[in-house]
Amino acid sequence: MTLVSGWGRFPVVDSDVLRPRSFEAVGEAVVTGTIARGNGRAYGDAAIGAVRTIGMTGFDRVRSFDPATGRIRLEAGVLLADLIDTFGPRGFLPFVVPGTRFVSVGGAIAADVHGKNHHCEGGFGRYVDSILLRTGQGETIEVSREENSDAFFATVGGMGLTGIILEVSMRLRPVQTGWIRERVVSASDLDAAMRALEASDAATYSVAWIDCAVRGRDLGRSLIYLGEHAVKGDLADDAAAFPAGKNPGLAVPIDLPSMTLNRTSIRAFNELYYRMGARRAGGNHVVSLYPYFFPLDSIADWNRIYGRRGFLQHQCVIPENGARSVLGDILDRVATRGDASFLAVLKKLGQGDGILSFPLPGYTLALDFPVRGDILNFLDEIDRLVVAAGGRLYLAKDARQSRATFEAGYPALSRFNAIRKALDPNGTIRSKLSQRLFDEV
Ligand SMILES: Cc1cc2nc3c(=O)[nH]c(=O)nc-3n(C[C@H](O)[C@H](O)[C@H](O)COP(=O)(O)OP(=O)(O)OC[C@H]3O[C@@H](n4cnc5c(N)ncnc54)[C@H](O)[C@@H]3O)c2cc1C
Repeated sequence: MTLVSGWGRFPVVDSDVLRPRSFEAVGEAVVTGTIARGNGRAYGDAAIGAVRTIGMTGFDRVRSFDPATGRIRLEAGVLLADLIDTFGPRGFLPFVVPGTRFVSVGGAIAADVHGKNHHCEGGFGRYVDSILLRTGQGETIEVSREENSDAFFATVGGMGLTGIILEVSMRLRPVQTGWIRERVVSASDLDAAMRALEASDAATYSVAWIDCAVRGRDLGRSLIYLGEHAVKGDLADDAAAFPAGKNPGLAVPIDLPSMTLNRTSIRAFNELYYRMGARRAGGNHVVSLYPYFFPLDSIADWNRIYGRRGFLQHQCVIPENGARSVLGDILDRVATRGDASFLAVLKKLGQGDGILSFPLPGYTLALDFPVRGDILNFLDEIDRLVVAAGGRLYLAKDARQSRATFEAGYPALSRFNAIRKALDPNGTIRSKLSQRLFDEV
């Protein structure tokens, strides 16, 4: 047995971790209580098997690529970082990227990850044509919108619970360059931030970073980053069409003592960040895709900043109607508490594609908290606000929500459960997350 955790390093639990080298060996490795694991970037317990965890990042081969259409067939363990570095210089990028590029294609499908373009272009699953799935029953089937479509839409956003994704056919986006035309808008409070996001519905990419240490008049003050793919004409004559992808430069070498994060350090960081960003507001800048999409990737192991006990990310989505008052309430409680994350992220989302996909039309807010004190009770309080507003929490970030919160947020759960049961009548595929939220007890 090995101690395993997600990116938040909470919870840390025992699981038997195997790394098979062939698809046949994957099949042989499956026992009751197995789940697939990609690159372990889900924050909580989604990628930890109830009994056994199958590491998939060794399956990292590209099977075929058509440069005329951008269609690609690849194994599920390929990291988006490698796709970007390999196909970016040839003029193709993934349509959807989350806030880190160190996720696998299998993990991106299982969480139906959203990027800064969800409001207009949907999630990762929208660009997937078909999936080779090894079910809990031991069958290997191809699932797509046309063939085994129930299994397809349950697998997109299904957190690995329909089986193990072995291979994927999907589309990449043609681009002229690897640069982004960025415009920064500074918003002095939450109303201004939401107005700015609303007004930028036509922007391909948009995201707001909120200073969640301030209250009162400043509550919700934010920097909004809008982006479009730059074309060759946007670049200086001598600029390379594709920027160099840097590996993380800095690393956090040790678990910092949890007292490093306190009201004073968080306020100071946020103040500095807001002031520096506000200075860039207004104009257009051409920036590399790497800092634009993946600002946190430049510091390796940044999850250690939160100390040995780990941290929790709370990511909710609130339907558009009524979002303003709930978000204001949450941010006020968080600022009053004082130990919230350095920065919160606010984004607009559109409709999700998978049966259990997290997005719904509305606003998503993501906050990080160190695991200490009464944080679990505090987050239960926030959950009640989310549920009352018709919202839900993101399973890829979750380590602690209750069944009641989960069931209230995902009305299509019974349909998902029926499809899962048909694919896996004996309940072979199980994670710590599924034991907590899905499985019969
Ligand atoms: C810094 C950071 C920023 C992030 N930003 C975003 C964001 O902007 N948007 C967003 O949507 N998410 C975001 N995430 C979450 C992340 O994109 C998802 O958790 C993603 O699923 C992680 O992929 P992974 O390969 O690491 O999968 P893992 O964490 O290993 O697994 C995640 C889920 O996918 C399943 N899975 C993995 N591989 C397979 C497979 N081959 N077959 C079947 N199931 C599989 C697992 O069982 C598990 O349920 C962020 C995470 C971090 C750490």
